[in-house]
Formats: sequence, C-alpha cells, structure tokens
Amino acid sequence: MYRGFYCFLFIVILGLLSGCSLLQTESQTGVSVKQGYLNLNDWDGEKNGVVRLDGDWEFYWKKTRDFQENEKQYISVPSTWSNEKGVPGHGYAAYRVVINHVNKDTEYALDMPSISTAYNLWIDGDLVGSNGTPGIDKKTTMPAYHPQEVYFSSEDSTIEIVLQISNYHYRDGGIWESITFGTADQIKDIAFKADALEMVIFGCLLLSGLYHTVLFIQRRQNHSALFFSIVCFLVCIRIAATEDILIVDFFPNIPWSLIVKLEYLSFFLSVPMFLWVLYTLYPNHIAKKFCQVHMYVSVIFSMIVIFTSPNTFTHTNIAYQLMTIISIVYVSIALLKALKDKQEGALIVNLCAGFLSLTVINDILSVNSIIHNYRLSSFGLFVFIFSQSYIIANRSAKAFNEMERVTHELAVLNQTLEEKVRERTLSLEDSRDELRKANVKLENLSYKDQLTQIPNRRYFDEKFHIEWSRALEIQSTIAVMYIDIDYFKLYNDTYGHEAGDDCLKQVAKVLEETLKPYNGHIARIGGEEFIVIVSDVTAEDLNKVCEACRKSIELLKITHVKSVLSKIVTVSIGAALVLPHTRMSSRDLINAADHSLYVAKEKGRNQVCIDFRKK
Ligand code: GH3
Ligand code: MG
Ligand code: MG
Repeated sequence: MYRGFYCFLFIVILGLLSGCSLLQTESQTGVSVKQGYLNLNDWDGEKNGVVRLDGDWEFYWKKTRDFQENEKQYISVPSTWSNEKGVPGHGYAAYRVVINHVNKDTEYALDMPSISTAYNLWIDGDLVGSNGTPGIDKKTTMPAYHPQEVYFSSEDSTIEIVLQISNYHYRDGGIWESITFGTADQIKDIAFKADALEMVIFGCLLLSGLYHTVLFIQRRQNHSALFFSIVCFLVCIRIAATEDILIVDFFPNIPWSLIVKLEYLSFFLSVPMFLWVLYTLYPNHIAKKFCQVHMYVSVIFSMIVIFTSPNTFTHTNIAYQLMTIISIVYVSIALLKALKDKQEGALIVNLCAGFLSLTVINDILSVNSIIHNYRLSSFGLFVFIFSQSYIIANRSAKAFNEMERVTHELAVLNQTLEEKVRERTLSLEDSRDELRKANVKLENLSYKDQLTQIPNRRYFDEKFHIEWSRALEIQSTIAVMYIDIDYFKLYNDTYGHEAGDDCLKQVAKVLEETLKPYNGHIARIGGEEFIVIVSDVTAEDLNKVCEACRKSIELLKITHVKSVLSKIVTVSIGAALVLPHTRMSSRDLINAADHSLYVAKEKGRNQVCIDFRKK
C-alpha cells in the first residue's frame, strides 16, 4: 500500500514539475506597459525570457484604426472593456501599445490568445494578423476563435502594435488574456510546448475516458467508471474547444458559436459528472441530494446554452462559476471527513481533488480578470486522473489478491473435505458392517429361543404362514406336531429349575437333530412345549417322524424319578395332517394338533396321537 502510494506521489510530482518547467519559460521580467508604452531598456530577452504585454494600453472606444491622439483613454490589459471602462459589452475599439528599445532587424513574435470576438492586428502599420472580421456593428462583425502566433521583424528600435477589436456576439469584449511578446524562437518554443502539453493531456484524458468506458461495459455496476469516463470526454471537448488545438485546426469552417457552445456545455456538464464520480467513491460522505440538485441546475444552464445565442448564454457563466465554487467548498469538506474516517484512497483523492480545485478556482479568477494567470484546470484534472487510476488499480489488485487467497483457501478446504469424505466413507462402511452384523444378531435373537437355541414361536408363526400358503398353492399335505414333556413340573420340583433348563436344552437339541432328515421345522412355543411343521408328508411318514421324536427322548434316558411312567423323561406328541383348501383355516390344523396332544396325555402320556383329517 505505502510503496504504491509513494510511486503515485512521485508520478504526480513529476507531472507538476514538468508543468512548472513549461510555465517557467514564460517567467516575468517585472516590466509592464505604462500609459501605452513598454520600455524594454533593461530587458534582456535571452536572459529574462518573454514579456507579457500587461498594463495600461491606449484605448479608443468606438474608433477604428483612424483614431485621434486626443481621444486617447487607457485600459488595463488583460480585461474586458465593460468591466474596466464601464462601456457596453457590445461595441468596437482600437487598442495601441508601443514597445521601445527592441533590437533592430530582429524576428519577433506575439502569442495572441483568443480575443473577444474579432480583431485585426497591425504592427508598424502592416496588417499582420486577424481573427474573424472586426466591424462597427453586428452585421459587419464576423466573430472567430483563432488563438495564434504572429511573427514579424522590427525595422527600428520601436514597435507599434494596434488592435482593432469589435464584439457583438459575446457578453463582453476586449483582450481578456495576456498577449505575450518575445523573439520568434521563444514564442515558437512556448507555442510548441503548450501544444505538446495540451496534446499529452488531451491524449491522456481520451485514453482514460476510453479505459473507464471499457471498465464500465465489463462491469455495469461500476458507476464511478461511467461518470469518470464522461468527465474525461467532456474535458477533452473543452480542451479541444478552448485551447489552441484541434477543433479549429481540424475543422477550420466550424462556426464560432458552436465552439463557444461546446466550451460552455463541457464546463456546465463536467462539474455535476465530477460530483457523481466523487459520490460513487464516497457515498457516505457526499450527499446524493446535493449531486442531484447540482445536476438539475446544470441541465437548465445547458439548455440555455443549447437554445440561445452566445450573446445571451455567456451571461450565465458567472452564476455557474459561483455554483462551482460552492460545490468545491462542499466537496472539500466532505472529502476531508472521508479522510478523517480513514476511507480507502481518501488521502490521494484529497490531495488531487485539492489540487484540481485550486486549478479550477485559478481559472475562474483568471477568466474574470481578477488574477492574471494561465489556465490550469485541464492540468489539474490530468493530476486527478492519476488518483483515479491509483484507486482503481489498487482496488483491482486488492480484489485479485482476495480472489487468490479465497481460491487457495477453497483448494485447501476441498482437499481436507476430500480427506474427511474418505474418512467418513470408511467409518460409514465400518458401521454398516457392524450394523449388518447387529441385524443378523438381532434377527437371530428375535427368531431364536434364548434358552434352547432353537427357533421360537415367532419363527414358527411366520414359517407356518409361508408353508400353509405354499401347501395350499401346490396342493400338498402339511402337518403340525405338538411335543410336550411329561410331568415336567415334577421334574423341576425334584431337580430344581436349573436342571429343568438343562433338560429342556437336551430335549430341544435332540428333537432338532431327529427332525432334520424329515425336513421338519421345530420351535419352542413356551414352557416345555415344542411345535413342529412337516410339509408334504404322508400319514405313514408323519407317524414315523412322531415316533422317531418320542423315541429319541426316551433314548436320552434323563432320570426323572418322579415320573409316574418310567423314571425317565418322556414326551407326549399330538399331531394333525391335512391337505389344505381355501375354506379351511390354518388355525384348525393347530387346534387339531393341540387336541391330539390332549388325547395322547389322556391316554397315558409317552405316546403319539395323530389326527389324520385328510389323507
Ligand atoms: P403334563 O405331564 O400334564 O404335561 O404335566 P407338566 O407338569 O409337564 O405340565 P405343567 O403345564 O403342569 O407344568 C409345566 C411346567 O414346566 C411348569 C414349569 O415349572 C415348567 N417350566 C416352564 N417353563 C420352564 C423353563 O423355562 N424352565 C424350567 N426349568 N421349567 C419350566
Ligand atoms: Mg405343558
Ligand atoms: Mg408337560
């Protein structure tokens, strides 16, 4: 930031120095015109440079070149004649000055500014230059805008300069800028440098205007770029219209009134545009209302310029200049506040806007002949452009750095995100595995009897539903067996609950083993009762299965002293077999099996009872 600022300051100072070096060529000698005479006795042109023909010229109001000595008055130059002499703005007059003690047979020149609004110039009686056609009324006067250098040779040691000036088209007439006298080489040099500087400023403004236009096109919300480009173009027009370049050189036939209109319009419109630029930069410090009001007033002034003749609209200048000075004061205060609030770029904008304001005030004072100085506002604007460029460059660099930083952060974030996603995926896969295992476990738990590790009632219910539907569909038989341990309460009572559990486990295991070859599905449905589904089985086979089961328990030979039957653990089995049909309920089969078990118990236990409902 600071390095950039010093670079910027360096450029500005360089610009100022180059501007000053140009002005230095025109240093003043301290000599001035007194009562129509300029005495160059003590003047060394080589050493002291050129002379401005400022001072008291002879003035002959309402006289052409054939004025009489006794009608002589004096007028201060530069000035407008109504200001100075109280005569009307419109009229004609002759001006005369005699320069004494010049070198004989030397090439001299005058740098003639624009003079309001037509003149003929005689030197030692020879007509050497003119601007439009001076006359004695509006009809005979042809105004023109033609700043120029006039070259001539001195025949002896005095030079008589006579100007015949007339004005019927502008608010006021006369020589209102300094005429510069010097050797031909000096004037040529000054004119060249002034032209070069104007060209450089013009070029810079034009480029800057184009650049900011492109900036605006690329980013439509960048209003400051738009306003600034308009300011640049308007000032380009103003330079082309007021300085001795371009418009007249390129379009010699351009009407004088159009040039004056362009000069005024560019001034009236560039000030509000400039306010908008500053408003977009510091919206919290410059009031929008102020800019709007200034703009409306400017538009009204511009309308006057467009629709009236220079005679009328040139009178508006003073009012507008006053308004500009008010705006400068307002903006200066606002910008100082922005500086106090440490707003971005406020220091540079303050310095440059301050410089620009001084140059504008200088120009206003010069135009009104309050001071006699060179026009500097285009140079002031030139300096201000640097502040703009600096702020814009600074902002884009900042934006770019920020973008790079964010991009980097994003890249880092992306990388860690990828890693995190990978980690999460892995842990997710792990937990999915665990979940799968847990699910299997849960399934086992929910379908398994915890004591005997064979399927439970739940399993039976689902399996029975499936098998029943299947049997119904393919019309195959289905059988259900109830197996109940005999006198198990007594067993528990005799050997204790733990032994009872062991017994249950053994019985379950053996029954499961025995049923495997017959494709029977066993489940424990409560206490010491088991249930079995055997699908697609014949009556004989069912009988075989039941008997196999009953025997397998007998063969276990678990001692049961309290058993009324045989002193070992035995089971009673009740079974039922059907070929199911749609009108039959699956519940009927289970009830039938239950009933068979009841019958088996009734018949004395340790036996099989089968209900063959449908063979
Ligand atoms: P029956 O010959 O008529 O079948 O007589 P029972 O004593 O075997 O039948 P009952 O229904 O009267 O008694 C069943 C007993 O089974 C009662 C209870 O003590 C025992 N029992 C039920 N569940 C369990 C268990 O999980 N563990 C143990 N150890 N005993 C159980
Ligand atoms: Mg029982
Ligand atoms: Mg029992």
